[in-house]
Amino acid sequence: MQLLNVKTFFFNGLIFSVILFFTSINSWSQKSCYLIEDDEKYTYEMIQKDLDSLHKLFPERTNIFTIGESEFGLPLTVLRIGSPIPKKRSLLFVGNVHAREDYSSKFVMKFLNLYLLSFSRDSIIYKKASDYLNDVDLYFLPVANPDGLKIAHENWIGIEKYLPQINEIKRIETFAEWKANGTGIDLNDSFDDSTHSLNRSYNYSPVPCSEGFKGKYPAEPKETKAIQSFVDELKPLMTLSFHTKGDIIYWADSKTHHYFNGIDSLINERALNSSGFSFVPVSPNPATYGGGLENYMRYKLGLLGSCVELSSGDSNRKQFADNQFNTRVWKKAWQIPIICIEEVIKHAMELEEIHTKFKKEK
Ligand SMILES: [Zn+2]
Repeated sequence: MQLLNVKTFFFNGLIFSVILFFTSINSWSQKSCYLIEDDEKYTYEMIQKDLDSLHKLFPERTNIFTIGESEFGLPLTVLRIGSPIPKKRSLLFVGNVHAREDYSSKFVMKFLNLYLLSFSRDSIIYKKASDYLNDVDLYFLPVANPDGLKIAHENWIGIEKYLPQINEIKRIETFAEWKANGTGIDLNDSFDDSTHSLNRSYNYSPVPCSEGFKGKYPAEPKETKAIQSFVDELKPLMTLSFHTKGDIIYWADSKTHHYFNGIDSLINERALNSSGFSFVPVSPNPATYGGGLENYMRYKLGLLGSCVELSSGDSNRKQFADNQFNTRVWKKAWQIPIICIEEVIKHAMELEEIHTKFKKEK
């Protein structure tokens, strides 16, 4: 009896040590695989480095490539999650079309990182992360406007020689409030959705400016051209473009809403329920909503496109502090991308038919 107790004691001790060992391995590996700077300024260089590291940590699940360059020659890097052979069906997540809105790239990166971690059973934030990949590939372009993000961060490394040119562009408030690309064109007014001549946003500028200048002709900026070529070929069933502020989603416009047989309404309703965001009616006037990536997706390709405005709204250009990201953004919006993935998978065949019919009629 005595001997049995000693044996049991040692056996239990051994089991306990084994559990402790694996627990520490798991928490170590999870910690080392979570790369995002939740509370700090998250620069273009840091994002590029993290994209590379994530690809190296998950080589079988990811693919990394460039879709073009910015005006100042910085790569527009895309990471794809999926099996080695790309699938026909996909969704695209885009951040930082607008320079100062750096919560948006942080959001795209955090979602991407946690999605990858969800493949291991120890981190189950997105429980069906592996299952979704049977149906779709996920593409991430965290920084659509690298030059602009660097200007807003006053991070001149690699773009020093453009500084005189940047200084000549009309500037509203400080560099931190810069919204345009490096040559003073607002990328989200520059997409070729046939509204260029009409388009006159609230902050319209007739000359290159830190915000509100749509360019002299549609798709003038290199960034816009590169993104358009990429989506023209990829044809993602849904594109989510992340911005700040408002805690709202621009999800439909009067010209294209009828294409989608209510699928856009259904997705929007679920996204609002999960986030507590406010309802936005179908945008009525192309002069005010046109020129965005989401408009291009709907109007030129007959595919779903939404513009998600993260963090609460106010009339200040100044962005909220880096260390408020989790409370202001993540806590509310973390389920939005997954809801879109689920609904797109559910309605994939119908969405493909809508796109095909649309292309035939155009
Ligand atoms: Zn924006």
